[in-house]
Amino acid sequence: MEITVQKYGGSSVASSEKILRIAEKIAGKVKAGGKVILVVSAMGKSTDNLIRLAREVASTPDPRELDMLLTTGEQVSASLVAMALQSKGIKSKSLNGFQAGIKTTARYNEAKIVSFDKKKIIDMMQELDALVVTGFQGITEEGEVTTLGRGGSDTSAVALAAALGVDCEIYSDVAGIYTVDPRLHPNAKKIKYISYDEMLEMASLGAKVLHSRSVEIAKKFGIKIYCGSTFSDEEGSFVADENIIIEQPVVTGCSLMENQTQVFIKHLPVDYSLVRRIFEKVATEGLNVDMISIINSESDLVVSFTIVESKKKHLQAALSKVLSDLKDWNVEYHTGYVKVSIVGIGMRSGIGVASSFFKALQNVPIKLVTTSEIAISCLIAEQYKNSAVEALVKEFNL
Ligand code: ADP
Ligand code: ASP
Ligand code: MG
Repeated sequence: MEITVQKYGGSSVASSEKILRIAEKIAGKVKAGGKVILVVSAMGKSTDNLIRLAREVASTPDPRELDMLLTTGEQVSASLVAMALQSKGIKSKSLNGFQAGIKTTARYNEAKIVSFDKKKIIDMMQELDALVVTGFQGITEEGEVTTLGRGGSDTSAVALAAALGVDCEIYSDVAGIYTVDPRLHPNAKKIKYISYDEMLEMASLGAKVLHSRSVEIAKKFGIKIYCGSTFSDEEGSFVADENIIIEQPVVTGCSLMENQTQVFIKHLPVDYSLVRRIFEKVATEGLNVDMISIINSESDLVVSFTIVESKKKHLQAALSKVLSDLKDWNVEYHTGYVKVSIVGIGMRSGIGVASSFFKALQNVPIKLVTTSEIAISCLIAEQYKNSAVEALVKEFNL
């Protein structure tokens, strides 16, 4: 039995008309003898709308209840897609996370997939032509409903493909993976093949075309990911092993992460156990920090890092707890930053990339710089976003 796993994102299932077009496309595949598992996201912006509703009734919604709410979005689209498929004469059913036995860890809003009820899914595929599974959601060992973090449907799809040992196709509103977000730079070039490591770095640094954990899973299980456009036949991009990529440019792409806030915790005593406790607390709260720096001025310490703007309140509460015994500390939040990065495995051996990076950005005031083996990132004020991206695209011929 030849099964294909295909994922359709929010914009692809945004209306009944679009859902019917997907059903049409699947009908063609089924007629040709294929069987498809479709993993779907919530319709259009419905997850955003549900989050807005939650914030209307509670300033910091309870994480468990938020997952109860958000998982409804994918159940709406999955059932509609199954109905549309049935209306085209295709044997189809939908399953939510609970029914598909998608077991996750117990961290609400950021759960990780542990396993699927593979037997049930394979048994159902004996009878069906197309099975529709809700993305983004699962259940804990205790039967609690969880979500995987924003953009997590990609991870649901790749994890399911990995469990079944097949490759995964991810369909969205763009025709593949580009050197830079085509919304930001319409002349971006499409990348035919990109290595797992580069895609992982691009995704973690803001390229939301793929959820970074989906790439992690694909790499771990050797699953090839195809990214293409839902409604066009234009050839897309593959994320695969770097060995199949013959010619490698030094810099493959440029990513942008918006809504960054630089946090300064000031007037701390020179006590590194305190630094450890701060980062421990931040980690147990599930807060993602980035671009860390510590300034030791002998009389006191300043700990600085970046977070996404929306986590300010959560961070403030966490710091108040961990620093409750101290008197003079204070926190400053400098908002309105973006993080711009260039990525490429060629940087491992290429020399002079940093120099070209700074040359390109000579007119942009840079706040902070971080590097990894295959990326260079800088924090800059939002107003320089477009000019920085343009300059990097030009410098590295992206
Ligand atoms: P979906 O809802 O289908 O999951 P997303 O909105 O999550 O789709 O991801 C697709 C979007 O990713 C595109 O609309 C595009 O603006 C953005 N994007 C960011 N970086 C890139 C990139 N390097 N290549 C392609 N798309 C990108
Ligand atoms: N619907 C979820 C979100 O908007 C999951 C996804 O789209 O992948 O984040
Ligand atoms: Mg997405």
